[in-house]
Amino acid sequence: MTTAATTEDARMPARPLMAGKRGLVMGVANDRSIAWAIARSVHAHGGEVALTYQGEALKKRVGPLAEQIGCDAVLPCDVTDTASLDSVFDTLGERWGRLDFVVHAIAYSDKEQLKGRYLETTAENFNATMAISCYSFTAVCQRAHRLMSQGGSLLTMSYMGAERVMPHYNVMGVAKAALEASVRYLAEDLGRQKIRVNALSAGPIKTLAASGIGDFRYILRWNQHNSPLRRNVTLDEVGGAGLYLLSDLSTGVTGEVHYVDCGYNIVGMLAPDAAGPIREMLESFAPSRPDAG
Ligand code: NAD
Repeated sequence: MTTAATTEDARMPARPLMAGKRGLVMGVANDRSIAWAIARSVHAHGGEVALTYQGEALKKRVGPLAEQIGCDAVLPCDVTDTASLDSVFDTLGERWGRLDFVVHAIAYSDKEQLKGRYLETTAENFNATMAISCYSFTAVCQRAHRLMSQGGSLLTMSYMGAERVMPHYNVMGVAKAALEASVRYLAEDLGRQKIRVNALSAGPIKTLAASGIGDFRYILRWNQHNSPLRRNVTLDEVGGAGLYLLSDLSTGVTGEVHYVDCGYNIVGMLAPDAAGPIREMLESFAPSRPDAG
């Protein structure tokens, strides 16, 4: 292989992976947010990032983080407010003229319904969960694709509770299943415009959103002892996988749900060497709400 061929190879870029790319990252609440891990990773590889925040309370946290990555486009956006969504994309259109990537790392459900049984889900919370955690990604894609004149990458965040039953994940699992299905339909709709649409399915990570899920520490410990890598995934690892899906390293990948969970999704049953630590964990474990019969 000649030197020229090597530098032309997208896997060995001669300049930073995200150089010249501009995009929006939605869903930073604090420095533990998955959105922040991806934003940081994109910035470290030469990309330019705009951020959104939900409401004034989070602005105080997001502002200083934005400074760390040289981001001066920090825009308010509540996805339940169509005007605020329109305003974000209008502003970026005026400012940059085009977008190369968008990260959607947004989810919400009433935490009272993220414990106990799915059966108890109310219509009101079902609709709110679906609107914020699933439909908002489609709403974002509708606006983003118009700015992706040279193609692009749209990325959302999922969890294995979309495919299998996880304790307390309940209506959020239903919303993530719909989100993953929408990724496939959006990938087909936008593929001809060279726009890729993917989901990253992360293993459990202690974040603000995760703290609303009943017995989340139990889920963390279970994954830690039973994933093939025998640990939980780190924020940096999710940031790195996000970078891959946003960059030209993944130009052949669309409509995919990419697991970044230390391999837990392939596991069929409790690992024998996990039996000891799991027994220990169960001895001190009292469920947050024992299921009603
Ligand atoms: P987080 O609390 O840091 O982020 C959730 C974000 O959603 C917050 O920034 C919040 O402001 C935003 N949000 C909620 N309602 C909104 C609305 N109406 N308008 C605009 N923004 C709104 O938690 P996180 O864990 O980083 O969550 C990011 C994504 O990752 C979510 O989709 C979550 O389901 C997913 N995910 C998390 C885990 C985990 O274990 N933490 C695992 C897999 C997937």
